[in-house]
Amino acid sequence: MAGISIQGITKRFKDAQVLRDVSLEIASGEFLSLVGPSGCGKTTLLRILAGLETQDAGDVHIGGVMVDDLPPKARDIAMVFQSYALYPYMTVAENIALPLTMRRLSAVERLPLVGRLVSGTGARRAAIAADVRQVAESLAISHLMDRRPAQLSGGQRQRVALARAMVRRPKAFLMDEPLSNLDAKMRVQARAEIAELHRALGSTFVYVTHDQAEAMTMSSRVAVMMGGELLQVAPPQAIYDDPADLRVATFIGTPEINVFAAAARGDGTLDVAGRAWPVGFAAPAGTPVTVAVRPEAFVLMPEPRADLGAVAGTIRHLEYLGAETMVHLAVPHVAKPVIARVEPLTGAGLAIGAPATFRVHASRVLLFGADGKRLKSSRAAPPAARALPAELSHV
Ligand code: ATP
Repeated sequence: MAGISIQGITKRFKDAQVLRDVSLEIASGEFLSLVGPSGCGKTTLLRILAGLETQDAGDVHIGGVMVDDLPPKARDIAMVFQSYALYPYMTVAENIALPLTMRRLSAVERLPLVGRLVSGTGARRAAIAADVRQVAESLAISHLMDRRPAQLSGGQRQRVALARAMVRRPKAFLMDEPLSNLDAKMRVQARAEIAELHRALGSTFVYVTHDQAEAMTMSSRVAVMMGGELLQVAPPQAIYDDPADLRVATFIGTPEINVFAAAARGDGTLDVAGRAWPVGFAAPAGTPVTVAVRPEAFVLMPEPRADLGAVAGTIRHLEYLGAETMVHLAVPHVAKPVIARVEPLTGAGLAIGAPATFRVHASRVLLFGADGKRLKSSRAAPPAARALPAELSHV
């Protein structure tokens, strides 16, 4: 078990700058997910940690030791790939045992017949078999030990790959999209299993995925990466509720957060799609601001209220999802439909083509500046905004 420290990592492939000054401290025993769109540099960073790729600048420390000049096998970390990389001609037991046989037996001792003649090989092989049995039991794959990878389901292969990574008790696990070959149902189950495994082992996990649900459900912290840069590193709930950057806000969350181009009106309110939103934003009139609202932050108003700032429009589409309904609202002056999440009972009373008005509490309005960085004023509304009458504290 060891923490990982990444300082100022830069990497370029020919013309492409893939990693830009990436620094990150991963605590010992932490489960950190690296999430971001395809091509943002996640795998490259993981491969640099593993020693499979060399950075142009910056350092990596594992367990307090600088590993930049160490080859992959000397770093004592295990990597689990998307493809599982199991050897097809070996049994499950042989696949799991491989990292131990490579480390604990010499080339001669590994020979099937001649190896037996070397004194002590039998005891070492028995110890390896015991370790393999123990790991297989912990992952509930003992009954598969004599099969070959082709005779396993995707989920079983994934567990064998995990078992092979676990068997030598590495300092840390690096996982690169290990669930992407599983179907949706299996993925949900495997997520829970990997999170449980992490709790049981207490090892450091660095998990790369482009699937935000995986990152959000398993990790103690999520690192959101885009264009080779780390935009925010925080616990899942903070990434969702308190995004530091508009790109983080729009990448995390399904359906996507609603985004409006707005402008300050100079009196603490914002002009959003032609309506005043009293969010306590003290800036000169005309200051451009981007406003973002999560779908579940909208509250349906029983009847249209022209006097109160809100979003009003026409229902274009309703998605009944059982536990919730997504309302797609066409709002004048807003390019994309606004999406609001409502309770099924509320949703049942709505009709396509009908008008609807939604309001949102000022505390749930996220504001971003022209550079895409978060402006905190909507969270800590100044006293003037707090003193608004109760009904106006919603916009
Ligand atoms: P994905 O989710 O699709 O796996 P990723 O975020 O893991 O993407 P990387 O695999 O790290 O992204 O790749 C980042 C960029 O670097 C991509 O544009 C990729 O094409 C490029 N790249 C990666 N490896 C190499 C290489 N060996 N030579 C040249 N370019 C590379």
